Amino acid sequence: MNNKILVTRSSMPEFEEYCNEIKELWNSHWLTNMGVKHRAFQAQLEQKLDVPHVALYTNGHLALENVIAAMNFPHGGEVITTPFTFASTTHAIVRNGLTPVFCDIRADDFTIDAEKIESLVTDRTCAIVPVHVYGNICDVEVIERIAKKYELKVIYDAAHAFGVTYKGVSAAAFGDASMFSFHATKVFHTIEGGAVCFHDDALVQKLNDMKNFGIRGPEDVEFVGGNAKMNEFQAAMGICNLRHLDAEIAKRKLVVERYRSHLERVDGIQLNPVQEGVQSNYAYFPIIFQEDSFGATRHEVFAKLAENGIGARKYFYPLTNTFACFHGKYDVTQTPMALHLSRRVLTLPLYADLTMEDVDRICGVILACRK
Ligand SMILES: *Cc1c(COP(=O)(O)O)cnc(C)c1O
Repeated sequence: MNNKILVTRSSMPEFEEYCNEIKELWNSHWLTNMGVKHRAFQAQLEQKLDVPHVALYTNGHLALENVIAAMNFPHGGEVITTPFTFASTTHAIVRNGLTPVFCDIRADDFTIDAEKIESLVTDRTCAIVPVHVYGNICDVEVIERIAKKYELKVIYDAAHAFGVTYKGVSAAAFGDASMFSFHATKVFHTIEGGAVCFHDDALVQKLNDMKNFGIRGPEDVEFVGGNAKMNEFQAAMGICNLRHLDAEIAKRKLVVERYRSHLERVDGIQLNPVQEGVQSNYAYFPIIFQEDSFGATRHEVFAKLAENGIGARKYFYPLTNTFACFHGKYDVTQTPMALHLSRRVLTLPLYADLTMEDVDRICGVILACRK
């Protein structure tokens, strides 16, 4: 019997490496509230991601919610975004009292169709929240031009794009801010965790207030903030995993190349593009099934993989603008390409330690679905 293959598997440092990293915490009893690990990790990320400021969070979602809140948009303001994403992106907008306005995505790389953004701008538009989906970099140049023209803020959901560069520039550098998720399932993780990267010095205090109850000093609370701090154990995991990031990405690259060798040039299968100028982190391996030319639907392939103990994900399906919690609010016919792709996409298992034999087996099952 074949072993089960999950869609993802968290990379971990050696047990001893992590123990060594947290030893200091046992001595100091300082477990959270911006201690030595938090400070060291933040500094390492500022250097690694080549940005002036990084704020660390207990998870990526609160990082995104907080940075949107920090922009002080008027209640009911409109935010142009994509429905082809994880729930977090849309929820962060709605939970801030803002209205998501859904823009369609591009057929080739699944990112927001920047050419369609301008037609959605109204006098209530305050921001654009695009997603570097699967680590594919959005059309940052066009988005910047539109943002300048209409004086909009741009906050990237870069949850998938840790370690990615575009034309040599870190994915963290675009727009007014970028959010990264360090969830256990991401290329780089801190168990749970996240960060906001930004340029504006004025945001440092603001974000700090928001994630730490607005406490400025023992007797000084200046702001009605919440709690979203990253703890020392998360930061220690980040410090360990950062040492192995390059090796992690290199291993993922080999897995992706193996997948490509089987699935490239197969009728009815569309692969994630290799974007020009982009140094990828090989975060995901999405494939699109065109059932008329492939000879099987996405669901048939999904079921056949499951039957063989292989976990694939319909990622992203359903679109966020069709979620039950938004029933009747958004018109999904406004994003036809996103709808089309969400009904045909599967992301295949991908992690650093996935063996070539497993990739061969997965591809064998997929190709045998053709009728
Ligand atoms: C993972 C993810 C998030 C949320 O990150 P958490 O760290 O899990 O809170 C947000 N957006 C996208 C696109 C994600 O994949």
